[in-house]
Amino acid sequence: MTEVAKGGLSLSGLTKNFGNFVAVDNVDLEIRRGEFLTLLGPSGSGKTTLLMMIAGFLDISAGDILLDGTSIREVPADKRNFGMVFQGYALFPHMTVRQNVGYALDVRGRPKAEIKARVDEMLDLVQLQDFGHRKPGQLSGGQQQRVALARALSFAPPVLLLDEPLGALDKKLRIEVQAQLKEIHRRVGTTFIYVTHDQEEALSMSDRIVIMQNGRVEQLGTPTELYERPRTRFAAGFLGKSNFLIEGGATYTLRPEKIDLAPKGHINGAARLTGTIRSITYLGSMRKYMINVEGRDDIEVDVDSWRNPHELNEGQQVDLGWSDQAAVKLDED
Ligand code: ATP
Repeated sequence: MTEVAKGGLSLSGLTKNFGNFVAVDNVDLEIRRGEFLTLLGPSGSGKTTLLMMIAGFLDISAGDILLDGTSIREVPADKRNFGMVFQGYALFPHMTVRQNVGYALDVRGRPKAEIKARVDEMLDLVQLQDFGHRKPGQLSGGQQQRVALARALSFAPPVLLLDEPLGALDKKLRIEVQAQLKEIHRRVGTTFIYVTHDQEEALSMSDRIVIMQNGRVEQLGTPTELYERPRTRFAAGFLGKSNFLIEGGATYTLRPEKIDLAPKGHINGAARLTGTIRSITYLGSMRKYMINVEGRDDIEVDVDSWRNPHELNEGQQVDLGWSDQAAVKLDED
């Protein structure tokens, strides 16, 4: 595979105003060469706007973007040479898969033999060797996305920008293509910047995740760091589920699967709280218990469904326990 020795991006004070609305607000971000970085946030948090500024499709209102130390602020989109896989950036329907994948090289005037070799290499990468002569309309949604990926990587871009590329696929297929995408990232070594609002997608693929809210970076970290040590209520609630406990004026976050549940008086160790089961929801791999504790919001406890030793029932009194490390103090509310 072609090795890419560049692709580090540095965003400083990056801002986008639409009239007096601030869509991206003073973002500082170091994107490492070759990393898989995901922008994760709710609808309207500024993910696409940030990506469009990196792509060069949107002017920057303030701040700068450096590629390997050099400002690209004034470089037009087509001269940035970034690969793109966007939902609206469809394949050319009248061209075959091979023509689609070779298109960017053709436009760049590369020799025919080189294009052929590179298209073979790309089709191999996305495992569509036998589909080169089909038209996009003769492919499944997942296969079309792989062609789009092959097309975007054909000219070995330093950076690949992906905006919700799997959004149109059903869940099972999305998980399959996620694994393929991650494997392709490992093989090509290109910097991937990936926009999604799907937390599982972000957790399963990313080296690091940027959680965005209101055009700002809420928290940046590896999937484990963000899940295990969220700093704010928003980060804890957006990536995974969380209970919030207020103890001594400080707020703590406690993940539902880190709580032990047992009939009153039967918990191993000390009970932290006692409550009543308000509801039990069977979700296949786990059961979700909502526990009513006097003077508090309901507490969610998730238990693997194969581990239900006590045959708990709705209305039953239960003890809740957890280890000291399970409850994480937030920096702020
Ligand atoms: P989604 O997940 O829904 O795609 P997003 O996080 O990508 O959301 P953006 O598309 O970046 O969000 O939009 C950020 C904010 O900027 C939104 O409030 C949006 O309405 C606003 N916005 C985006 N483009 C424009 C525009 N051309 N003119 C005015 N406001 C805009």
